[in-house]
Amino acid sequence: MFKKLLIANRGEIALRIIRACKEMGIQTVAVHSTVDANAMAVRLADESVCIGPAPAKNSYLNIPSIISAATVTGADAIHPGYGFLSENSQFARMVAEHGFKFIGPSPDIIDTMGDKATAKKTVQELGLPVVPGSKGLLHTVEEAMDVAKEIGFPVIIKASSGGGGKGMKVVQDESQLAEAFTTARSEAKANFGDDSVYMEKFLSTPRHIEIQVFGDSHGNAVHLGERDCSIQRRHQKLLEEAPSPVLPRELRNEIGELAAETVRSIGYEGAGTIEFLYEDENFYFMEMNTRIQVEHPVTEMTTGYDLISEQIRVAAGEPLSIEQKNTHFRGHAIEVRINAEDPATFIPCPGTIKQFHAPGGIGVRFDSAIYSGYKIPTYYDSMIGKLIVHGTDREECLRRLKRAINETVIEGISTTLPLFLKIMDDPQFVSGDYNIHWLEKKLADL
Ligand code: ADP
Repeated sequence: MFKKLLIANRGEIALRIIRACKEMGIQTVAVHSTVDANAMAVRLADESVCIGPAPAKNSYLNIPSIISAATVTGADAIHPGYGFLSENSQFARMVAEHGFKFIGPSPDIIDTMGDKATAKKTVQELGLPVVPGSKGLLHTVEEAMDVAKEIGFPVIIKASSGGGGKGMKVVQDESQLAEAFTTARSEAKANFGDDSVYMEKFLSTPRHIEIQVFGDSHGNAVHLGERDCSIQRRHQKLLEEAPSPVLPRELRNEIGELAAETVRSIGYEGAGTIEFLYEDENFYFMEMNTRIQVEHPVTEMTTGYDLISEQIRVAAGEPLSIEQKNTHFRGHAIEVRINAEDPATFIPCPGTIKQFHAPGGIGVRFDSAIYSGYKIPTYYDSMIGKLIVHGTDREECLRRLKRAINETVIEGISTTLPLFLKIMDDPQFVSGDYNIHWLEKKLADL
């Protein structure tokens, strides 16, 4: 097992990884930018190293600085968390070249899955259902028009290197295609440094259902069920739950096994998520995330597994401690993302947290790195924490979530918490009848 692990991340996920390491008896190194010197992860880690100024490109994305921090502290492994360098194959390669263990799959697999068009082709060959669309990349407007006519409008043009809900253009009809194609390419180039795009049929009422998978270096692979992440705004998840209110048990096992089989076939090591759109009892592969996800606690609550320590064990060469036949799904879990944003306009509102009181009690988990007096920097993502609750069934879970939100005190800034109270009072949400477009329609009504 590793003796010392460096966390190449910040915020709640850095803290989450430190917690796992402490329980495993592994020493921790936090890295931080100048504005994060007072971060909770820095306080709780055994050691910390400043890796650069506030802008992420100079610190959390600064590969040489992070590698140097690992070298001077004598770390033997690096956990990238999510976001930042977590799906950067060049980083994973550099980490290995310098003699450290990267907590995640091989750089080649990150490359295959990181390019969405290639990923889609790969999993399709392995038997996963995909959204109808172009076979690979599109190079000209004419090509795009041919595919669109074949699959039928509306269609969605996606950046092959896109992520985080960015780099997508929905096209309603023929007249919009040429312009959308050109802007999609130039936006892809500007945002991701790569102008490759592909096309899919735009599904009108799908749910976003993803399967948590895990593989090890001994050829074992399991699935840990699904998470329903259909409560989204601008293609970004705000609330996630498991099990999905609409997925029949047999279908869950079927898609779960297909997902685990895919992971086994590609020799995947570590935690991963296979994302699907789900409509009319059909699954359509969207992409695979080769890292731990923000919403992993939902699965931890329903399975009882610690996914971060499992990632670390698998990276250290141990076989999976999880067996499919011993994996049982208990009760219901929901996570809400607490963003430092206005709950109506979603405009980020960083500032200083004057008062903070975390919710508690049975079935309540609060993953966050905030504290009273904490100043939220303007440089990074606006998510400041996650509230996760577990109950014996969805009804109990919803009541508990409401209770926990009402108990939470975060003063001095606005957060998205009040929005979730509104969502939970909505009869349609309560009935489980919603899709990826539901929240935006509801927000327009509010
Ligand atoms: P990202 O990597 O940015 O998360 P995804 O490919 O996972 O991109 O898509 C993000 C979201 O965009 C999905 O959860 C869904 O809401 C929407 N989306 C993507 N593809 C389609 C599609 N073919 N039809 C309808 N909505 C889609």
